[in-house]
Amino acid sequence: MQDEQPCTRTILIPGGAGFLGSHLAEALLKLNHRIICLDNLSTGSLSNLTPLQGESQLDFIEADIAKPLPPLPKLDLILNLACPASPAHYQKDPIQTWKTSVFGAYHLLELARDRTIPILQASTSEVYGDPLEHPQKETYWGHVNSVGPRSCYDEGKRAAESLFFDYLRAYHLPIKVIRIFNTYGPRMDAQDGRVVSNFILQALRGQPLTLYGRGEQTRSFCYVDDLIDGIVRFIHFKGLTPGPLNLGNPSEYSILELAKLTLSLTQSSSLLSFKPLPTDDPRQRRPDIQKAQDLLQWSPQTSLQEGLTKTITYFQNLLHTAIPQDTQMNSKFGNLTRR
Ligand code: UDP
Repeated sequence: MQDEQPCTRTILIPGGAGFLGSHLAEALLKLNHRIICLDNLSTGSLSNLTPLQGESQLDFIEADIAKPLPPLPKLDLILNLACPASPAHYQKDPIQTWKTSVFGAYHLLELARDRTIPILQASTSEVYGDPLEHPQKETYWGHVNSVGPRSCYDEGKRAAESLFFDYLRAYHLPIKVIRIFNTYGPRMDAQDGRVVSNFILQALRGQPLTLYGRGEQTRSFCYVDDLIDGIVRFIHFKGLTPGPLNLGNPSEYSILELAKLTLSLTQSSSLLSFKPLPTDDPRQRRPDIQKAQDLLQWSPQTSLQEGLTKTITYFQNLLHTAIPQDTQMNSKFGNLTRR
C-alpha cells in the first residue's frame, strides 16, 4: 500500500457492520479517518455500529459486493472484510458465499483499479485447509478439499487471493492480503455457532458444552483488539509488501482445553456433551507470525484467559439486555443509505 500518512482518508470497509469490520471501523475513526461501511447485513448487523452512531465521520451503505457496486464518493483506500466467516453461516448459502468471495473481490478490485487506490483483502487461515504443515507459514500452499462443504469459503477465499495477486501483476495495483486466524471478542454473533460464543453462552445458561469429535482438535484464538492492531499497523506500513501476512495468536489450545477454561472462568457447572465432528474440520491450526513480527513489530498481547474474561462479560451483558433489532437501529443511524 502506498505511504499511509496519519491524515484523514476516506476508507471503504465492505463488511463494516460485521464483528471484525465494526471493530476496524472504530479503530480507524479514532485515527480521524472518514469511514464508509458497506454491508448487505446478511450476517453483519447495524447493532455492531451502535457504539459509533454519534460519529459524523461514519457513513453506512447497505449493498451487496457480489452485485455491481452502487455509486460511491471519492475514496482513498478499500479494506474488504465482507463475507460470512463462521462455518454455520457460510455453509447456509454456499453459492452466495462463493459469489461474495469471488465476485465481491472482482467488483472491489475493479473499483480500486478505476480509482487507482490501494486495497486490502481479509483472507483466512482456511486457505491452509486441514494443514499438513504445522504451524502454518505464509509459504505453505495448504491442504484443502475443493469439493467439501467448507470449500465454498476456503476455495472462494483462495480464488480471491489469486485475483488480488493477478491485479498486482497485471495492473500494478497496490494490494495487501492478510490471513486472519480464529478471532474472538465482544460483538461476536451469538448465533453464528463458533466455538467461543457457543461455549460461553452454553456455560452461562447452564447448558451442556457441545464438543465436536473428542475435542482434541486445536485452534489458536486471537483477541479482537490484537487482531485490529495488526491490521491497522499493516495498513499504515510504509512499504509495498503485498503479503500474504498471517495475523493470529500463536498460542494453541485443544477444544477440550477451551471448554474447561470457559467452565472455570464462568464458574459454570455445565456438563460436556460430545457430538460428531463436522466434515473436513481441520485437526490443528496455529499461525507462524514471524513475518508480521518482523514487518510490523506486532504480536498479540492478550492471553486467552484475559480475552475470554472480557468476552464473557460482553455475553453476560447481552443476555441481560434486549438485543436491538436492525429495524430499530435504522431510525437512530444518521448516515444510512439503503440500495
Ligand atoms: N466446535 C465445537 N463445538 C462447538 C462449535 C465448534 O467443538 O459448539 C469446534 C469445531 O468443530 C472446530 C473448532 O471448534 O474444530 C472451531 O470451530 P469454529 O466454528 O469456531 O471455527 P473454525 O472451524 O472455522 O476454525
